[in-house]
Amino acid sequence: VSRTLAEHDWIARLVRRLGPARAPVRLGPGDDAAVLRVGGVDLLVTVDALVEGVHFRRGWLSPRALGVRAFRVNASDLAAMGARPVAAVVALEVPRGTPAALLDGMVAGFVADARRHRAALVGGNLTAGPRLAITVTMLGRAPGRIVTRAGARPGDRVFVTGELGHTAIAVRRRARLPALPDRVAAGVRLARVAGAMIDVSDGLVQDLGHVAHASGVRIRIDAARVPVAAACRRALGARATTFAATAGEDYELVATVPPARIGVLARAGLGCRLREIGVVEDGPPGILLVGRDGRPMRLARGGFDHLRS
Ligand SMILES: [Mg+2]
Repeated sequence: VSRTLAEHDWIARLVRRLGPARAPVRLGPGDDAAVLRVGGVDLLVTVDALVEGVHFRRGWLSPRALGVRAFRVNASDLAAMGARPVAAVVALEVPRGTPAALLDGMVAGFVADARRHRAALVGGNLTAGPRLAITVTMLGRAPGRIVTRAGARPGDRVFVTGELGHTAIAVRRRARLPALPDRVAAGVRLARVAGAMIDVSDGLVQDLGHVAHASGVRIRIDAARVPVAAACRRALGARATTFAATAGEDYELVATVPPARIGVLARAGLGCRLREIGVVEDGPPGILLVGRDGRPMRLARGGFDHLRS
């Protein structure tokens, strides 16, 4: 019997120990970001890390692209709640002998992306460590509604931005990592109509599973409608859909939208592809990925688990 704890079981246990949220916490652990009410303003806070050997290898992307990636994985969590980045602090763990040019490039990429969003890098920490790791804490504000994972209702339609599988197929082929999408503008616009939203960081099936459990609903995904990256189709053929539906690190957004608001969505102009892939149903919380024959597909794994994979 494995004594290894699954990532999300461990997190659930920790959250139980922390107990219920009290002011100024409006939303505690369990969503893409926490929400604090400070001076009458809702401030969102999230943290994410990129670790050499886990999320990337040096040859997979330039220092600048690594900096951009560090910004976007965090901005993605804010976007998933309808918020924009405001400020960030960065903790760097750096092996001795790392060239200054690598760190300069990384920071340049991070700051360039931050400037585009009028967000500020306001501090950080640097320590020696066995491998390169970039941990970003990001603060954000929502110009409109804050959308959580808990608002999906039976009858809602499920939409996903962009295409899935880009990063995972690059990792499998040991190719350069593709640039992550910037979905901040799309997230703010989706928040006007979405019941629930999450970003796809650990795989569509696993991440939508969090929405299903937080909302107490079953979500049916039509596998034929899942937007699969062309590189996945070329490399994997018939297996591309299940690969893309369980692949991590896409950082696209998936949202549930009540039917009455779909018309608004069509006029919103997200600046990226949006594909309807399924429907929210009454039923035991979970995900059904339904194949062309109308039957649920079996998945070898639901998505990425940092404590097991
Ligand atoms: Mg997230």
